[in-house]
Amino acid sequence: MSFISEKLSRIKPSPTLAVTAKVAELRAAGRDIIGLGAGEPDFDTPDNIKEAAYAAIRDGKTKYTTVDGIPELKEAVAEKFRRENGLEYGVDQITVNSGGKHTIFNAFMATLDPGDEVLIPTPYWVSYPDMALLAGGTPKFLEAGVEAGFKITPEQLDAAITPKTKWLIFNSPSNPTGAAYTRAELEALGEVLLRHPQVHIFADDIYEHIIYGDFEFVTIAAAVPGLYERTLTMNGVAKAYAMTGWRIGYGGGPAALIKAMAKVQSQSTSNPCSISQWATVEALNGPQDFIAERAMVFEGRRDLVVSMLGEARGLNCATPDGAFYVYPSIVELIGKKTPDGGTINNDLDFVSYLLEEEGVATVHGEAFGLSPCFRISYATSNEALEEACKRIQRACAALA
Ligand code: GLU
Repeated sequence: MSFISEKLSRIKPSPTLAVTAKVAELRAAGRDIIGLGAGEPDFDTPDNIKEAAYAAIRDGKTKYTTVDGIPELKEAVAEKFRRENGLEYGVDQITVNSGGKHTIFNAFMATLDPGDEVLIPTPYWVSYPDMALLAGGTPKFLEAGVEAGFKITPEQLDAAITPKTKWLIFNSPSNPTGAAYTRAELEALGEVLLRHPQVHIFADDIYEHIIYGDFEFVTIAAAVPGLYERTLTMNGVAKAYAMTGWRIGYGGGPAALIKAMAKVQSQSTSNPCSISQWATVEALNGPQDFIAERAMVFEGRRDLVVSMLGEARGLNCATPDGAFYVYPSIVELIGKKTPDGGTINNDLDFVSYLLEEEGVATVHGEAFGLSPCFRISYATSNEALEEACKRIQRACAALA
């Protein structure tokens, strides 16, 4: 009998965090590595938010708080949903957690029984299937590949829903592709979902503010008001406010679900860090202008990366509407030989080759459920991106 549980054996460690750890290890060993693995803004947390955290410490706001968030933060979150998304939630419909991952985890733990299915559009963010599995559910995948613009269709959704479908996890703009659904696309998916009342929607809106050109973000419960009663709208401060390390995610949804999630949280982490909560009150209530300014910086980086990868032999890279990722296909490179005689059999071989030969860290597509592709996070400086893209061009050109 194994000491480690059977349920843990069903999942793997987070591949995105593994790449981050690998980059740290190689750098510590003296290698020159450009890290395009972690999906984390390179910007700093704004000063007003840091000041709010210092003040919280000074004022002794350093004790346990209500399990799923201080009232001041729940109010700020409710106001954010009202102001930015046109969604009305009472404070009993708001949950605050230790990062967006925790929000997902609580929701799945609170709702999934063996046999319950979670629909996951593919490619997906790495942790969705494993969280569903850990909570006892069964992930079901809907493939939306390069030709589909990485977006699922209403017909596909309709065909995938069964009486056991409990959740659709819906992430727009998407990690890892940056694809984002328009209002019309959401309405079309909504028509299907309205016919299947057993399906709840987990809307992961964490990249809401990182959108480009004239793309207009709308969250699914706002685009399809008939889904409001069965949608958990999730967001957090990590990406928009450059607060990844502070670990604050939150959600708005049905009061009964929010209460069940608080029960899970009360028996696991208790409250999210009190200081981070006060910092988040300031983040949500304070100046917001820098968010759009930073999105413009990301847009410039997207253009740089898409154009430089367009010149890399054998890569096919779409231009995404949001997030800070691109997800190029390497289908033309499969079977090619590396200069030292190795073969690129799959996307793991390709990202390993990039890391070994050129010191560029990325994440292989298999981790996101769609191969042969790889993910680049371009949330880093233009200089680093330019150098990384040159190295990628060189690595592709060296394949024969
Ligand atoms: N969302 C980020 C990524 O995909 C953070 C790392 C993680 O938690 O997976 O890289």
